[in-house]
Amino acid sequence: MSRSRLNFLTFKAKITTSMKKKLTLVLILMCTVCIAQTQDYPFDVRGFSIAVPQPDGMKQFLTFMEKDLAANGINTLVLRVDFNYEYESYPNLRSQDALSKHDVKKLVHTARKNNIRIIPQINLLGHQSWAGRVNSLLREYPQFDETPSVIMPEKYEWPNDDGLYCKSYCPLHPDVHEVVFALVDEIMEAFEADAFHAGMDEVFYIGEDDCIRCRGKNKAELFAGEVKTIRDHLAANNQELWIWGDRLLDGKTTGLGFWEASENDTYAAIDMIPKDVVICDWHYERAEPTAVIFALKGLRVIACPYDKADITRTQLELIQSFRENSNKVLQGRFLGVMQTVWTGAGNYLDSYYGEEINERVMGSVNSFKEMIQYLNQQDK
Ligand SMILES: [Zn+2]
Repeated sequence: MSRSRLNFLTFKAKITTSMKKKLTLVLILMCTVCIAQTQDYPFDVRGFSIAVPQPDGMKQFLTFMEKDLAANGINTLVLRVDFNYEYESYPNLRSQDALSKHDVKKLVHTARKNNIRIIPQINLLGHQSWAGRVNSLLREYPQFDETPSVIMPEKYEWPNDDGLYCKSYCPLHPDVHEVVFALVDEIMEAFEADAFHAGMDEVFYIGEDDCIRCRGKNKAELFAGEVKTIRDHLAANNQELWIWGDRLLDGKTTGLGFWEASENDTYAAIDMIPKDVVICDWHYERAEPTAVIFALKGLRVIACPYDKADITRTQLELIQSFRENSNKVLQGRFLGVMQTVWTGAGNYLDSYYGEEINERVMGSVNSFKEMIQYLNQQDK
């Protein structure tokens, strides 16, 4: 036996005797991690959507991401950023409590560590004002306003003579995309994201007579044109577009009405938009079976509940049923479910953790708890 062979055997024996226990322990730990990472939750998308935290709420939010989202199987986080980021391309559009790039990197790091996909959102097209306040884009660039003659009221009330819910930008203004795409590109880079949520819900002002560029034009074509413009911009960077689905549903024929569906003639856009756009199908009063409409049109869809736990459960059951009862082609289009939250992140988490309970927020807290209970029950 050669000296080197002898040395090798001696070394092997040492490993066997002194490190066996440690190696076994490492293997057990590795297997535990593997099992944890491959838990078989239902749905490809198990999402949560909320506004970005304010800078002083970052610590609480990062803990929530790790201990409450990831730990319960949530793998997708749509963050409504809007103007709450320190944009460098257009600093004049920053809001007062904007997150710094350093803050965003903390979100990115925590998401990556916990296998959460962050999808940042800026409301494009609609939602350019809220109640009596014009948001940054139209405040700084009023020339983009689709309805320049609609003056913001001192005291906002709905309904009103102007039909003003939120202002829209004009999708045909020659300069609007230069500005909004600079913002999109900045947050996509900051968040290191591969998908962007453009909002595009509740667009009531589109193709208005008030707009010299859009008046008389087909509203479905205008809406679809803007979806395609945004989608193409993202696709050039291998990024995906997500939008809310309400403008693509026929509010009158379906009885869905003018909030969660369209009564302003945009719904024909469902047949005009690119098929790789992901639809977030929100319904808050009933578990409407509209995900099927999107899937049959070739679009991937996510059911989005809000603040009624019993409806949330039905939405989860419906999506699961659609997946189980569809053919392979359709099956893959029912991506999953995403809890939506329409309050500030700080408010939500204070109620979620019971630190300062706000009854108006508790509906979406209980809805989310129902959702994670469902996801984790299904996993057993
Ligand atoms: Zn216009």
